[in-house]
Amino acid sequence: MPAVRFGIHFDEERAELVRQLRARGITDESVLKAIGDVPRHVFVPEIWLSRAYDDCALPIACGQTISQPYTVAFMTQLLTVVPGHKVLEIGTGSGYQAAVLAEMGARVFTIEWHPELLEQARRTLDLLGYNVASKAGDGSVGWSEFAPYDRIIVTAGAPEVPPSLVRQLADGGVLVAPVGTQQVQAMVRLHKRGASVTATRYEGFKFVPLVGKEGWGGRTEHDMGEKEGDSG
Ligand code: SAM
Repeated sequence: MPAVRFGIHFDEERAELVRQLRARGITDESVLKAIGDVPRHVFVPEIWLSRAYDDCALPIACGQTISQPYTVAFMTQLLTVVPGHKVLEIGTGSGYQAAVLAEMGARVFTIEWHPELLEQARRTLDLLGYNVASKAGDGSVGWSEFAPYDRIIVTAGAPEVPPSLVRQLADGGVLVAPVGTQQVQAMVRLHKRGASVTATRYEGFKFVPLVGKEGWGGRTEHDMGEKEGDSG
């Protein structure tokens, strides 16, 4: 995968980022390889180019963020993706997480609330040759047309795991989503086996809110809080 933006490759910076992620406890080699291969600098706004490989979230258009690389790696590791998995992502944002999943051999479906963001992400994914299905809309209710999904990843903070997404998860499937208040969320990993769903939680994340019918759009919360966070 050539890193094409402005003819700059950032190979050293990307390798250093992978070293940092390894030092912070990311152990899944397929995740580390994908992060080592996907050119994050092509997904960030030009003014943030020099910080593209810093381990932090960065602003993108529409008041949203490209998630912190550690968070992308952590969530992708929890997802346990193998080549051929059908993966639904809610919150396309810049398209970077979708590219990481596609790089790992997943068949990716991604939904973004803001049409303007989706358009930019599609351009970037097309430029880099990633074959990803996408649409603009409310991802809190999933994408029933292509369900069930082997894996579902939500990259915005939700008040609870949207029930529609649990329904659209395949038997044996895994869903990863940040769930909590608008100030702080726990990363929740659900594993669906027949009628039973087991959950594991990892504390201490902060994402922009999941809007829409089964996100905060369906809720009233007086304390809207600060949107920007270190995670995503
Ligand atoms: N995964 C993205 C990336 O790699 O750049 C980062 C996602 S950003 C932290 C969260 C995204 O979720 C924002 O782009 C936001 O517009 C989107 N979002 C929030 N609620 C949504 C919804 N109901 N449906 C689809 N996208 C939503």
